[in-house]
Amino acid sequence: MSKIQMKTPIVEMDGDEMTRIIWQYIKDELINPYIDLKSEYYDLGLKHRDETDDQVTIDSANAALKYGVAVKCATITPNDARVKEYDLKKMYKSPNGTIRGIMDGTIFRAPILIKGIRPHVWNWEKPITLARHGYGDVYKNTEIKVPGAGKAELLFTAEDGTEIRKTIHEFKGPGVLQGVHNLDSSIESFARSCMNYALSMKQDLWFASKDTISKVYDGDFRDIFEAVYEKEFKDQFEKAGIEYFYTLIDDAVARVMRSKGGFIWACKNYDGDVMSDMMASACGSLAMMTSVLVSPDGKYEYEAAHGTVQRHYYKHLKGEETSTNSVATIFAWSGALRKRGELDGIKELQEFADRLEHATLNTIENGEMTGDLALISDLKNVKKLSTLEFIRAIRRSL
Ligand code: NAP
Ligand code: MG
Repeated sequence: MSKIQMKTPIVEMDGDEMTRIIWQYIKDELINPYIDLKSEYYDLGLKHRDETDDQVTIDSANAALKYGVAVKCATITPNDARVKEYDLKKMYKSPNGTIRGIMDGTIFRAPILIKGIRPHVWNWEKPITLARHGYGDVYKNTEIKVPGAGKAELLFTAEDGTEIRKTIHEFKGPGVLQGVHNLDSSIESFARSCMNYALSMKQDLWFASKDTISKVYDGDFRDIFEAVYEKEFKDQFEKAGIEYFYTLIDDAVARVMRSKGGFIWACKNYDGDVMSDMMASACGSLAMMTSVLVSPDGKYEYEAAHGTVQRHYYKHLKGEETSTNSVATIFAWSGALRKRGELDGIKELQEFADRLEHATLNTIENGEMTGDLALISDLKNVKKLSTLEFIRAIRRSL
C-alpha cells in the first residue's frame, strides 16, 4: 500500500507524561503506517521548555500561524510541585495560554457522543459546543504577593502621558493582587467567530458573563457582543432562524442543565476552561471531547481538552498497566490532517481523517474501550483494554 503524500507540514507540538506516551503510540500505529507524515516538530515537553526558556512554545505558536494547521499534545502547566519535580529555572506560564495569546483565537469544544455512553444529564439530546475565548483575563495576568501594609493602585498611562488612577485597596497587612486585561479587538473577533460558527452550525448562540459584578470589564464583553451582533449578524441570524441571547453566567449554567442541548455556548476564557471539563465529564469522559483553537484569520490548532493524565503516567513508569483513553488525542490528529487536506486540496488526507474517526468510534461501539468508558458504558459486551491495546484495536478496525 502506498502512503498518502502531504504538501505542507503540520506543526506538531509534543507534550508531557501519559499523553506524550499516547502521542508516540498514535503516530506509530495510526499515522505513520498510512501517511508519509510531513510535520514540523516542536518539543513542548517541560524539560525542553525549560532548556529553551520557553522559547520553543513561542516558536511553535508562530509556526502554527505560518503554516495554518497545528496539532498539540497535552502539556504540564508548572506549579510549585512541578518546579521541584523538574528542577525548573522558573515557573513558566501555561503553554496553552501562551499559544492562545499568540494565535488570539476562539476554542471550540464539543463532546463526542456515542452509542452505549449516555450523558449524565439525561435531557441533553444533542451536543453543546462550547466556544471559549482564547485570549487574556486570568491567563495573561500579573500578580503580586503583597508583603504587608500599603496602597495598591490601578494606573493607566496613555501615550500622551495622561493618567487614569484608581485605588484598588489600602492594605493593612499581607494579601494578594492580580491585574488582568483584554482587548476590544480580541473580544470583537471572539464575538465574530462565535457568530460565524453559530451560522455555520445553524444553532443558537448563548453568551454569558458576570456583568452585574464586573460592570466595566464584563460589561465591555457584553456591549461588544451586542454591537457586533446588531451591526453584522442580526439579519443573517433572523434569516437562518437562530437566536443570539445574552444572560448572566449563573443563569446560563442553570439553563444549560435544563436544556436539550444543540447550541453554541460562548464563554469567557476562565468560564470556558471550567465549563468544558464539566461538559466533557457529564458526557462520559474528559477524553471524549474535541477541541480546536481557531484564530480570526483562519489558523487552526487541534488538541485534546484534558491534561497529561499524571496519575496514569506514574503507574506507567512503575511498569503497571494503564488504560488511558486516547480518543481526544486521536481526534486532534484527525482534525488537523483533515484541515491540512482541505487547505491543500488532498482528498485522500481528508478521507483518511474520516476513516480514522470512524474506526475509533466503531471500536468503542463494538465494545472495545478503555477503563473510563467501560465503567459507564451500557453495552453488553464491554471489554476493557490497555492504553496500547485500544490503539491497536482501532488499527485493526482501520
Ligand atoms: P488530567 O490530566 O485532565 O486528568 C485528571 C483525571 O481525569 C485523570 O486522573 C483521570 O482520572 C481522568 N482523565 C483525564 N484524561 C483522561 C484520559 N485521556 N483517559 C482516562 N482518564 C482521563 O488533569 P490533571 O491530572 O489534573 O493534570 C495533569 C497535568 O495536565 C497538569 O500538570 C496540568 O497542568 C496539565 N493540563 C494540561 C492541559 C493541556 O495541555 N491542554 C489541560 C489540563 C491540564 P482517573 O485518575 O480517575 O483515572
Ligand atoms: Mg482545563
